[in-house]
Amino acid sequence: MKLIEGAPIAETVYRECLASFAELKAAGHLPGLAVVLVGEDPASKAYVAAKDAKCRELGMHSVKIEKPASISQAELLAEIDRLNADPAIHGILVQMPLPAHLDTDEVIRRIDPAKDVDGLHPVNLGKLAMEDPSGFAPCTPAGCQRMLVESGIETAGKNVVIVGRSLLVGKSLALLMMGKGRGGNATVTVAHSRTRGLASVARGADILVAAVGIPRYLGADHVREGAVVIDVGINRIADASRKSGSRLVGDVDFDAVAERCEAITPVPGGVGKMTIAMLMANTVRACRMRVGL
Ligand code: NDP
Repeated sequence: MKLIEGAPIAETVYRECLASFAELKAAGHLPGLAVVLVGEDPASKAYVAAKDAKCRELGMHSVKIEKPASISQAELLAEIDRLNADPAIHGILVQMPLPAHLDTDEVIRRIDPAKDVDGLHPVNLGKLAMEDPSGFAPCTPAGCQRMLVESGIETAGKNVVIVGRSLLVGKSLALLMMGKGRGGNATVTVAHSRTRGLASVARGADILVAAVGIPRYLGADHVREGAVVIDVGINRIADASRKSGSRLVGDVDFDAVAERCEAITPVPGGVGKMTIAMLMANTVRACRMRVGL
């Protein structure tokens, strides 16, 4: 069994970002990312801090905007308008989920598609469906695809089963993997909570992707011998043996399936590492596109 770790692949992406940076800097440009955090959700705060730290580490311009959970829709939209108009900002990410009183769709639609480095604006999702390379693909699915490519795992003609159909992960990854580009040309099945006989559907996968949101949900029954498993899930579960009292696990029961896999991503240390890397890559590309490089 081969462990597909995110860190070394993310490093490859960061090296590409730095090379691109050098070129941008020489032409007098600095990529800038604004991350908007609304409220006090601890997981969201941790994600935003990690994104901000990585931007700074790479030498990018980073702006972290923290707003109280009580912010009104109009105030949040005005903040997005301000960032849309700011020439130093090339990428805008609004950390999800937003508090329930806010209209998430309207917020996403307000972001200038050319700055939508999270790839969730309808224009970018349309470009993803149309395989128009000028769009931005959502970071987590793009990261999954990149992991497969960098690990030398052939996807063309393979049966890929994705469990989960969210726009953020499953549905977008399905579009990427059925596309005609690198890491594509797969025969893709998307399973969800209404799928009948999930275990047998999943066992048909050469490449099984778990994006369910239920800790260790997919077990040995779901994985055929020799399959590649990409575990997108990030779930915090109680663990009395840890000082923190908890630990992170994926949507796959790693211990139960690892031995039968050809390759598998760990949690933590797998897909999660790629999400931020692809965000940085999208931001650098947004900057290049803005300045015409
Ligand atoms: P969502 O809750 O939006 O989607 C979950 C999907 O799983 C839905 O399509 C749902 O089906 C399906 N599902 C739920 N229960 C079952 C079931 N019993 N059998 C089959 N399918 C089921 O989650 P996300 O897509 O946002 O996230 C999925 C996982 O990925 C989570 O663990 C999340 O934490 C993680 N994640 C990790 C990221 C990273 O950077 N590594 C980034 C984003 C997410 P239905 O549509 O029918 O309800």
